[in-house]
Amino acid sequence: MDAIRRYDRRLFLSCAGRAGLGVVIVGTTAACATDGAQEVSDAAPSTPQPATAAPAADSSAAPLSSEAPASAGASEPAVVAFDWRRVDLGFVSAYLLVKENQAVVVDTGVDGSAADIEQALTALGLGWYAVDHVIFTHDHPDHIGSSTAVLEAAPDAQAYAGEADILSITSPRPIMPVGDGDEVFGLQIVETPGHTPGHISVLDRAGGVLVAGDALVGAADGGQVAGPDAAFTADMAMAVSSVRKLAALEFDTVLFGHGNPVEEGAGEQVDALAERLSG
Ligand SMILES: [Zn+2]
Repeated sequence: MDAIRRYDRRLFLSCAGRAGLGVVIVGTTAACATDGAQEVSDAAPSTPQPATAAPAADSSAAPLSSEAPASAGASEPAVVAFDWRRVDLGFVSAYLLVKENQAVVVDTGVDGSAADIEQALTALGLGWYAVDHVIFTHDHPDHIGSSTAVLEAAPDAQAYAGEADILSITSPRPIMPVGDGDEVFGLQIVETPGHTPGHISVLDRAGGVLVAGDALVGAADGGQVAGPDAAFTADMAMAVSSVRKLAALEFDTVLFGHGNPVEEGAGEQVDALAERLSG
């Protein structure tokens, strides 16, 4: 059950010094490479540092959500199924991106959200042991409020964020800066600055799922995708550019920090949004 996890850990360690290179599982052996079927992790080494504390607020919860399956191969060990879970914290959402028996945590909600994230892991038959990667889309308190609790619960997990936001994220360990060209456990990192200077989004190309953080906002009723909220966005012009950048990507599902996921036709909605905002 821990095979994938062990491979990834070894890969990550063995390739950690090879910035910018993807990592590929080839059969039952692992190797660093620049391309391949299953890029598992990639990263530039870093020496970021923890910073100021992240405040808190409420949290309610209930894991829910749906899935976006990809192929799962039994004979070929490198084929990795993909799934996702929303951790609905009421005001804001965190997400689990799941491949085989590993879960990447994207955002950690407000302070006090770790139990809800754990509950979502448990519902999948997993636990904190299955979390080797925690990605922060940006440094707002409702996305990083439980950063320390999550990273202490998953002591082997590496944390990642956009470089410009790292200093304001509290972490018991250094956070690795990531941006365009980086992948984390096969997930493509997309720089989407504007809402915050270091905002990043996360794309699973195989599953067609984009985690947009606050670069996009979902409608409360699951309707139209909207652009970032100007009241909470540092640089709207830059944020609109980031919406255009996201529109150029291929995906069907978008997961937001705020609002319900759009599970079908999300790419077309973001295309239309980019045109409206640019028009
Ligand atoms: Zn935000």
